[in-house]
Amino acid sequence: AADLARAESLIAIVPDFPTPGINFRDITPLLADADAFRAVIDGLLAPFEGTYDVVAGIEARGFLLAAAAAVAGHAGLVPIRKAGKLPRPAASVDYALEYATATIEMHDDIAPGTRVLLIDDVLATGGTIAAAQGLVERLGGTVAGTAVLLELTALGGRALTGDVHALFTV
Ligand code: IMP
Repeated sequence: AADLARAESLIAIVPDFPTPGINFRDITPLLADADAFRAVIDGLLAPFEGTYDVVAGIEARGFLLAAAAAVAGHAGLVPIRKAGKLPRPAASVDYALEYATATIEMHDDIAPGTRVLLIDDVLATGGTIAAAQGLVERLGGTVAGTAVLLELTALGGRALTGDVHALFTV
């Protein structure tokens, strides 16, 4: 608990990034701290022990957490990537961002019924995670759970994503 509190304090708030008016939460100081990084990986996985076969991370910051979580949780890692990056046959889903649309993709070869733990850094509007959940299910997997480091509660993302394990909330 002390480690987690310290980890939370290492998330930097960067005003006006990437555009004026946005208070960007920067997790890189947390990742750079060995004890904090370890504590958040353990915390992300804690509710899900024994319930997942693979961990899926959403490009790009989600990869950093999901890869560490996969190793710590003795599970495989599946990348969910932005459009056009995956070399083999993949399924893709479009979703709405605030002022644009985005596309994420996942290779279409996960075994039916694979239990997937989804991990991303930040839950904001929920569009990204909801799209990733849909992708996993469309490919025949089941979403074992969804975990994020930080939830921006004011944006109401859970309306789109359903239940999410958020280690920190603001
Ligand atoms: P959503 O689709 O609106 O929930 O946005 C979530 C995506 O935007 C996640 O993949 C996050 O990486 C990114 N994101 C939104 N706000 C922040 C932030 O303050 N810091 C880091 N990433 C953010």
